[in-house]
Amino acid sequence: MRSLHSRLLAVSAPVVLLVGGFAVGKEWVSGIVWPEPAVVDPGPVGGPPSDARVLFDGKDLSQWQGGDKWLIENGYAIPQGGGITTKDGFGDCQLHLEWASPEEVKGSGQGRGNSGVYLMGRYEVQILDSYDNKTYFDGQCASLYKTKPPLVNACRKPGEWQTYDILFTAPRFDEQGTLLKPGYVTVLQNGVVVQNHSELLGKTDYESPPSYTKHGDREPIHIQFHGNPVKFRNIWIRELQEPQGVYPE
Ligand code: MG
Repeated sequence: MRSLHSRLLAVSAPVVLLVGGFAVGKEWVSGIVWPEPAVVDPGPVGGPPSDARVLFDGKDLSQWQGGDKWLIENGYAIPQGGGITTKDGFGDCQLHLEWASPEEVKGSGQGRGNSGVYLMGRYEVQILDSYDNKTYFDGQCASLYKTKPPLVNACRKPGEWQTYDILFTAPRFDEQGTLLKPGYVTVLQNGVVVQNHSELLGKTDYESPPSYTKHGDREPIHIQFHGNPVKFRNIWIRELQEPQGVYPE
């Protein structure tokens, strides 16, 4: 027995086609003049695309404050006692990075393979070895720290390389510092959506609830050192700008 929905479709489909057949008329156009989208070579799988800015290519961390203190070997970087922070600031962006928590499992909960990507130096996308390692859900891998757990746990095993593809829309403030629009974060971990346009509630912190304080349009990205030797490689960023359409005079 067919469902009501499929029977309605069966009845309406020819009508739609008929209407479609007679609907050849004047094409609707928005009238907005859009700039032509730039051509981008997506590059190899994992990037970088041709318009990306490479922040770490496996050879040097010269674009990062504190990068001189990290060990670089075999195309990856490994912390030696402190975090690293980009020398330049970034706002809305697509950020790709690859990381691996230590193969040798040590510690538990927040003490295992902990690092993090701090967008604008204050909004943390958690990095943690959450493979068979329980902790509070809004602090596990791919959480927006103490703001929102990931949709799913897409962690690979300790020691295996994992990818983060982060889409970030920065918060907007007015001159007085009032929040006009919150920040939003989308994250794919190993190709799996783990944050879907999740709203940031403010600076993420261990000791206090998230809250917003006005900051610049572009702020440095920080990679956390939390005492664990989490490795990084293939870091690149694309700054994003919405196309501005205009109506002709
Ligand atoms: Mg962390």
